[in-house]
Amino acid sequence: MSADGLPMVVPAQDLPARVRIHEVGARDGLQNEKMTVPTEVKAEFIRRLAGAGLTTIEATSFVHPKWVPQLADAEQLFPLLGDLDVELPVLVPNQRGLDRALALGARRIAVFASATESFAKANLNRTVDESLAVFDPVVRQAKDAGGHVRGYVSMCFGDPWEGAVPLHQVARVCKALLDMGCDELSLGDTIGVATPGHVLELLSLLNEEGVPTNVIGVHFHDTYGQALANTYAALEHGVTTIDASAGGLGGCPYAKSATGNLATEDLVWMLQGLGIDTGVDLGRLVATSVWMAAHLGRPSPSRTVRALSHKEQ
Ligand code: MG
Repeated sequence: MSADGLPMVVPAQDLPARVRIHEVGARDGLQNEKMTVPTEVKAEFIRRLAGAGLTTIEATSFVHPKWVPQLADAEQLFPLLGDLDVELPVLVPNQRGLDRALALGARRIAVFASATESFAKANLNRTVDESLAVFDPVVRQAKDAGGHVRGYVSMCFGDPWEGAVPLHQVARVCKALLDMGCDELSLGDTIGVATPGHVLELLSLLNEEGVPTNVIGVHFHDTYGQALANTYAALEHGVTTIDASAGGLGGCPYAKSATGNLATEDLVWMLQGLGIDTGVDLGRLVATSVWMAAHLGRPSPSRTVRALSHKEQ
C-alpha cells in the first residue's frame, strides 16, 4: 500500500479501462438494515456518495411502505436530491410505483424480476411470467417518458428453494426484459453462491442467446467470500457495470438478515489497484461509510473501510 491509503497500481491485461459503479447502498443496503434511517440522513448520505465521485446512485424504492418500511419516505427523500448532478435510479415494483416516481420527476427506473419461480412467488407473489407481464407496461411507459430502465434479475446463480438455476432460465428472463425495452440488466447473485467459472459460463451463454455484454451489469453478494473473484471474472469478460453498496450496507455480518452486498470500497480498492478508472475518491468514500456506520451504531463490515479507518486512528 502506498502512503496515501491507496493500493499500488499494477494493471492486468485485457481488462476494461473504465468501470461504472452502480451504487446501491441507499436502496438495497438500507432496505436490508434493521434500523430505519431518517430522511435527512439518507439525503446527506447520497450527497456524500456523489461528492466521493459515484455517478449512479440508486436512491430509493417506490414499493408499498408496508413491504419495505425502511424506504417508506421515498416521496420525501427524492425531492431533496434535485440539485445533484448524478443519475439517481429508483426501484418501482408496479404501475403505482412508476406513477409515484414519474410524478416526482424520476426518469431512471429499475424493475426487479426473478430468474426462478420460487423467488418470484416469495418476493413478488407472482409467477415469473405474471411478474414480467406486470413489468411490461411499466417499462414501456417509462421509456415513453424518456426514461432509462434497468432490469434486475435475481437468483441468477442459485436459489435457496430450487438449488441450481439453469442458465437458459436466466437467459429467458433477461431477453424478456430487453424485449420490453430495458436499457440494462443487473444479474443478481442474491444468495452469494456464484463462483468465477459459473459467472463466465452465464455471460457466454447470454452472449450466445443475443444478450450483449454492454447491457449487462453484475450484482454480487459476498456471502461466501466470492464477490470480488466473481467481479474479476466479469471484468475479464468485458463487463463494465458493477453494483456495490457503500460500506457493505445491507450485508452486515452482525445482522441475521445479512445479504452480503459487495462493499463499494472493497471493489474500488481492487479496481484502483488494477488501474481501472472509476472516478471515485476512495478516502472520501471511506469517510462517508464511517459516518454512516456511526448513524447505524455499528462498524462497517467492509474490509477496506475497516483497514483504512483503523489506519487513520
Ligand atoms: Mg444486493
